[in-house]
This record gives sequence, structure tokens and C-alpha cells, in this order.
Amino acid sequence: MPKLATLIALLCLALPTHAKKPNFVIIFCDDLGYGDLSCFGHPAIKTPALDALAAEGQKWTNFYVAASVCTPSRAGLMTGRLPIRSGMCSDRRAVLFPDSAGGIPASELTIAEALKKEGYATAAVGKWHLGHLPQFLPTTNGFDSYFGIPYSNDMDKVRGTANHFELAGNEDYKAYNVPLLRDTKVFERPADQRTITRRYTEEAVKFIKEKQGGAAPYFLYLAQSLPHIPLFRDKAFHGHSTSGIYGDVIEEIDWSVSQVIKAIKESDDQTYFVFTSDNGPWLTFKTHGGSSGPLREGKGSTWEGGMREPTVMWAHPKQLKKGIVHEMGSTLDLLPTFVNLAGGTLPRDRVYDGHDLSKVLDGSGKSPRETMIYYHGEQVFAVRHGQFKAHFQTKERYSGQKQARQHVPPLLYHLGHDVGEKFDLAKEHPEVVAKILALTEAHKKGVKPVENQLMKRASRK
Ligand code: MG
Repeated sequence: MPKLATLIALLCLALPTHAKKPNFVIIFCDDLGYGDLSCFGHPAIKTPALDALAAEGQKWTNFYVAASVCTPSRAGLMTGRLPIRSGMCSDRRAVLFPDSAGGIPASELTIAEALKKEGYATAAVGKWHLGHLPQFLPTTNGFDSYFGIPYSNDMDKVRGTANHFELAGNEDYKAYNVPLLRDTKVFERPADQRTITRRYTEEAVKFIKEKQGGAAPYFLYLAQSLPHIPLFRDKAFHGHSTSGIYGDVIEEIDWSVSQVIKAIKESDDQTYFVFTSDNGPWLTFKTHGGSSGPLREGKGSTWEGGMREPTVMWAHPKQLKKGIVHEMGSTLDLLPTFVNLAGGTLPRDRVYDGHDLSKVLDGSGKSPRETMIYYHGEQVFAVRHGQFKAHFQTKERYSGQKQARQHVPPLLYHLGHDVGEKFDLAKEHPEVVAKILALTEAHKKGVKPVENQLMKRASRK
């Protein structure tokens, strides 16, 4: 007769094990350029923490956001749907402002809400920019807690104060009367932006340490408010880089990444980590804006520099299939990927523009994403299919260009051969142009008009 202990051990082996669901951490920067990290080729800015994660995990070279400015880009990440479907983009007001009365509609299912259904603890830290009124804040949209600024760090500028360049040199955070919220209440106003990256980091690390090892898995969304101008950094990072204040800011963000990773590594909970940004560099701010490296243009445009982001994915303790991923991915894909990894399913009552990337993460398959649609406000300006990208219209939002340029036939670039979008191939490949035009028309037919959220303004008292 086998001993009782042996019998129990055999029984345990035979029973199905219910593995705990994985944790998810997203670090989302603001206006970080494709060329701003050392692992993406910056020759001077040092990002050792991100470089190590890129080497141990996956460096994504063709990863896109849903729009080239803050609010619509964030709406895309949060919902897995292009912002045109939620009314979170506009031709006339690019983003939400402190006088806005709109925000993310209650009918949208955020990543946090989708994961809450799967039993997750959730926290948002950092810049939100999906509506600052209470009904639009993170705590009404699936997050258990929130600590951060509700819109951009250059808003609520105090009248009569100097320009952004002079203020960054003076570190005068009081020139921006931006509130720092805890959940829905003002915690500090103006937010002391000199210490904001450090305080976001402390908040994020505290959440990870509280939740890991517990019964429920967790989802942390850490949206850094920098390197969006005006630039600020902690005292410890003054002169940290050889690239001026912009380099100091990026190196502090890299330090922040190192702290989050250190906390994740303290537990054996399976945790997936994604680092990316909401849109490309704000080039009009010269040395205070970043670099899009080999890509054309930056924030506000549908050229690659506006929407292709330096992206690193990593996991612990079971790691991802290590390597450089040249296939396409998008922030739109994070919601479907996380929901799948959490064992859930997507609701069938709405259209998703995101795909499940989990097979790329574990190396068992290719990215299902073959097409990327580039919206500028409410209009499709460009479409990438495979290696070809067609531009129907082009406009650099911040260059002073008043009207979009129309392109008939569209400009056509091969992004594999010409990542800087310099050599138009439309005449050589009319069949590719025709295919992309057909894809674009099919997409437009599937978009239902909804109420625009960005044009709603609070009535003046
Ligand atoms: Mg931004």
C-alpha cells in the first residue's frame, strides 16, 4: 500500500491547476520620440534599464499608436478601438482642454473595466487626458485608484508668465496651474512638476508591492506626463545626461522604469510589461522636443514620426520569446491581448480595431496585424498595408501649415526600403494603391457616426 502522503501527492498531480492570472503593467510616456532611447539608436541619452529589458525581452520596431496627439491616442489604447468610434477625436480641437465638457463615453469598455471583470485590482498613475470631469476620471472607468494630472502639463498656464523655454530653465512650475488629483479630489495645485516623475514612481511601486503575491492579479497603468513640454526633472537628475534638460528627463524616466522592474522582480507572479508613448516628438520645441530618429516628422502628423513609437515588451518570471519584432503592433492591440492572457473574451456588441498579439509574445505565431490606419482628427490621412503606406492627405499640425495637402493619386512609400518616406512609388505600383484604396473604403463604411466629445465645452459662467 502506498503511503497517504504519496497518494495525496499523486492526487494533486492529477488535478487541474488553476494558475493565477498574470499581472499587467503599462508605462506610457508623453511625446517620446522613436529615436530617444539608447536601445532605439540615440547616440547620447542613456537608458540602461530599457536597454536591458529590450535585450531580455522584445524590442518592437513597427509599433503604432491610434493618433498622433494625446487624447485620441489614449482613447485608442484604453478602448482597443480607433478614437473615431468613441467620438474622442476632432478636426477642430485636437485634444481635450481645461474648458472641455466631454470625455470618454460611459458606453466604452476600458482595459481596466475589461480586466476588472476578470477579477483584477487596477490603478492609474499619471496623465489621464480622457476627460477631467468626475464622470470621465479613471475611478469612474475601471480603476480602483488614481494619482495624477487630468490633462497635459502645459495647460492652465498662468497669464503673463514667460514662454516654455525660459520657464523650463527656471523650473517655475507655478506658471502652470495644473491640478494633481488623488482619485477625484485635488491633492495639490499647482502640481509641483519638478518631483512628479519621482512621485508617480513611488505611487506605482507602492501599488505593485501591495498587490503582488495577493489573491487578485493586478493591472497598473503608469502614464508619465513627460517628456511633454514644459520639461521638469528632479534635482538628482540636473545634468544627469550629456543631452541637456531633455536628456535629463528621459534618463529620469529610465530610472523610473528601473524602480518598477525592481518591484516586479520581487515576486514570482507572472507579470507582463509594456513601455511605449502616446505620440511622436513635439519638434517645434527644438531642443526641448525629442527625436524621431530615421522617421519623418513628429507629433501631430501622420508621417511615421508622429505615430510609430519606441516600444519594449518584457515579462517575468516566464520571459517572452526574446528578440527584435519587426512585425506590426499597436496600442490598440493591448486590450485584446491582455483580455486573452487573462482568460477573458471580448464583448461582441462592438467593433474592435485591436488584435491579440499573445502569439508574438510567446513566439508561437505571427502578428495578426497587417494594416494600420492613420487618422488625423476625424479623417483617414494614410493607410499602411504590409510594407506599403499610402498618404491621401498630409499636414504637419504644428508647422503653421493651414490646409492639408491632398494627394491624388496618393503618395506611396515602401517602409521596408524607405523608412524616412522620401521616394514616392505610386506610379510604379498602381495595383498596391488600388488595394489600399479598397481597404480604406471598406474601413470607412464600417465606422458609425457618434457624438463628438472634443467639441463639447463647459458653458461660461
Ligand atoms: Mg502626447
